[in-house]
Amino acid sequence: MATMDSLIGLVNRIQRACTALGDFGGDDQAFSSLWDALPSVAVVGGQSSGKSSVLESIVGRDFLPRGSGIVTRRPLVLQLQQIEEGQQEYAEFGHLPQRHFTDFSLVRKEIQDETDRITGKTKQISPVPIHLSIYSPYVVNLTLIDLPGLTKVAIEGQPESIAQDIEDMVRSYVEKEVDPSGERTFGVLTKLDLMDKGTNALDVLEGRSYRLQHPWVGIVNRSQLDINKNIDMIDARRNEREYFATSPDYAHLASKMGSEYLAKLLSGHLESVIRARIPSITSLINKSIDELESELDHLGRPIAVDAGAQLYTILELCRAFDRIFKEHLDGGRPGGDRIYGVFDNQLPAALRKLPFDRHLSLQNVKKIVSEADGYQPHLIAPEQGYRRLIEGSVSYFRGPAEATADAVHFVLKELVRKSIGECQELKRFPSLQSTIAGAANESLEKFRDESKKTVIRLVDMESSYLTVEFFRRLPQEVERAGNPGGNPRSQEVEKAGNPRGNPRGNLREKLSSRSNH
Ligand code: GDP
Ligand code: MG
Repeated sequence: MATMDSLIGLVNRIQRACTALGDFGGDDQAFSSLWDALPSVAVVGGQSSGKSSVLESIVGRDFLPRGSGIVTRRPLVLQLQQIEEGQQEYAEFGHLPQRHFTDFSLVRKEIQDETDRITGKTKQISPVPIHLSIYSPYVVNLTLIDLPGLTKVAIEGQPESIAQDIEDMVRSYVEKEVDPSGERTFGVLTKLDLMDKGTNALDVLEGRSYRLQHPWVGIVNRSQLDINKNIDMIDARRNEREYFATSPDYAHLASKMGSEYLAKLLSGHLESVIRARIPSITSLINKSIDELESELDHLGRPIAVDAGAQLYTILELCRAFDRIFKEHLDGGRPGGDRIYGVFDNQLPAALRKLPFDRHLSLQNVKKIVSEADGYQPHLIAPEQGYRRLIEGSVSYFRGPAEATADAVHFVLKELVRKSIGECQELKRFPSLQSTIAGAANESLEKFRDESKKTVIRLVDMESSYLTVEFFRRLPQEVERAGNPGGNPRSQEVEKAGNPRGNPRGNLREKLSSRSNH
């Protein structure tokens, strides 16, 4: 019994979680409804037949609005939670989770006010439920749903469709339990005390009029007069017990009549239903967890609030971008190979296009040599003139060198753009995304300026000091270049500038060969 009680307690807790998460069942849910899978007890019956009164006597407290006419206008989902004897009894609303109601007349007022908040002070009804939990040592663990009573005609202030509206709403609440075989329906007959003298309800209570799988339970609630006279629940229960015990018609059924018996019956039945449903509830919870996990993956995990953890998250995101950029550059993702293309194709092609034909034309050579050496006739070779010619030629490399820095810069910038786009983790944080892109481009801009300075410096270094070896090699190379068929001058330039077909290696090699002298 103890485990069963905790089982119902567990279901009540799941139900409260459903309420907090906005799961009230129905088909319009994005996720499988846990609410729909949980068993509960709903009261269905005619208007003023005593439904609210029955629920109240099960709870053992006065707190539901009762009376004649349509009083219950929104479904009330009532969760009863047994607490230990001696503990303070209280009620709590789903819409007012912080407030503990210990005065149950205030509970009734809040139900009325909360009903009016949705429906206005009219006789309109609304299907939006009010959730109320009652914690008490005197209740059994149960979830009960009080519904507006079924009616046949609209009264003033109600739309013509009211009868149908109420039926639809009630049906939607009992749909999951609608029960053609009568397995889950408990018949409750109220107002036995109001029957005409000389008549009784034994045909119904003994199952002859309307057969249900479970036995019918007769109830005597407080009359309106009792309520007006403030007869409390304890007295009401005693009166009810007395009524059955002393009634000539029902005394033989007394142990199976009355609100207390009904409460035990319902609780016991609910236990067996929950027991049967636990496996499917468990698998539904697991399925929902899976659904929510994947939804969460889609939306992104929660972000920490404290500055340290946020910084960590930002660094993680920067690293993710960094990793992708590196893959583009070093391999794994495409794009980095274009840098290789710059040095292997673009630079040599640009060097080949340099105007050495013009610069080293006979006319220009004559001009430069005579300008450099002036009127002094040279004895062996026009040294100043040679130097000028070489300096002039080498400085032509500045243009392609700078253009190479620009071309690499352009490729890197494109890789940054691609990497930002491919970094899934950053998609959630557009402003961090643009900040990282901005910072990366700013750095690239700085690197471009630095590389341009460096390559120009390298070209200047090349042209500012020429080794003896260079001059010794020159006649041989000119001779070799003189072979028929080719373009002697451009080949000469190519060879002089690129002896191994590797412009980078060439600069380095020259520098080191120079330091050997
Ligand atoms: P509901 O509309 O079905 O929720 O019915 P209520 O619980 O509001 O009851 C309607 C009226 O019937 C109230 O005035 C109750 O006091 C009265 N009433 C309910 N049950 C009984 C009963 O068993 N005996 C008597 N005499 N009056 C009852
Ligand atoms: Mg009612």
